[in-house]
Amino acid sequence: MRIENDVKLDFNDVLIRPKRSTLTSRKNFDLLRTFTFMHSGRTWTGVPVVAANMDTTGTFEMARALSAHKMLTALHKHYSVQDLQEFFSTFDQPDFVAYSLGIRDEDFDKLEQVLDAGLGDNFNFIVLDVPNAYLERFVLKVEELRALCPKHTIVAGNCVTNEITEEILLRGADVVKVGIGSGSACTTRRMTGVGYPQLSAIIECADAAHGISNPETGVGLVMSDGGAVYPSDAAKAFCGGTDFLMSGQFFSGFSQSGGVLVEKNGEKFKQYYGMSSKAAMQHHYGGVEKHRASEGREVLLPYKGDVNDFIDELFGSLRSTATYIGALKLKEFAKRATFLLVHRQLNRSLEQYE
Ligand code: 5GP
Repeated sequence: MRIENDVKLDFNDVLIRPKRSTLTSRKNFDLLRTFTFMHSGRTWTGVPVVAANMDTTGTFEMARALSAHKMLTALHKHYSVQDLQEFFSTFDQPDFVAYSLGIRDEDFDKLEQVLDAGLGDNFNFIVLDVPNAYLERFVLKVEELRALCPKHTIVAGNCVTNEITEEILLRGADVVKVGIGSGSACTTRRMTGVGYPQLSAIIECADAAHGISNPETGVGLVMSDGGAVYPSDAAKAFCGGTDFLMSGQFFSGFSQSGGVLVEKNGEKFKQYYGMSSKAAMQHHYGGVEKHRASEGREVLLPYKGDVNDFIDELFGSLRSTATYIGALKLKEFAKRATFLLVHRQLNRSLEQYE
């Protein structure tokens, strides 16, 4: 047994130090980022905030709303080939939608059907998603996916440490998804004891990814996934060096989100559940398999209306952070940021693990 003594940080363990700024107006701040991906060779410009591939957030309705802001939606994997055919017949924004799959044989069989149906040009991103990217089988599946889809930008994860970040990139992913146990609807930390504070995971994995490059295209990238509760957490994630930010919580509870709308005592609520919660497993697989424990939970969130209002708030907050730290572009957040360690002043982290 070994103990790592250096302190690992969550978003609520830090604040960002204000710095001298030459920004004259928040409007001048550039939220767009342009990346050239190391394996696919594609160049992408957009706001690097992504709706998670959960069936409560990665919906067709969300993709229509977010693409108008140049944001990406990772569609959940439970849409049928026919659902996808119908959706793509009226949605033509391949840069702002991702197809998601897991590593089961049936996931790869379905991807082949999707490609055979001629839908491959309708999405430029593919998210290969498992809760635990440390499995040998996972990295082999990254290689298999890269061979099957050489021109797609592959996002793969999840992991939280440098060595596996490097391996996933070297096996063929363009972007590594970072986060274990950080999700708001996730109970992995409580059920298994495994996890890594999200801000430290970002800092460590981004450092590893940015050190891996293809001289003709670009460097390896990371996508922080989970744990962002407030817009300030998005700012902290970008300051910590993440290239993309994926969130479920940010995009849950809206009219464009999935989940059932419930009315209680005249107030409206919307269901949000983890993809391995009993609710999700019951819905998609008819129950929790015997050898598995559910590592997700279900919550009812106050109904929040239209997601466009939240997007305005998120963009406004990022612009405001930019004026405080003197960043002219989102790209400069990581360069400009100095974090101050604070004593969990918002005291959210324990709440979050409940
Ligand atoms: P949030 O934005 O809600 O904090 O986190 C969203 C992320 O939580 C998802 O993108 C996914 O990585 C993770 N997640 C979603 N459902 C589950 C689940 O049932 N169990 C676990 N362990 N993680 C989940």
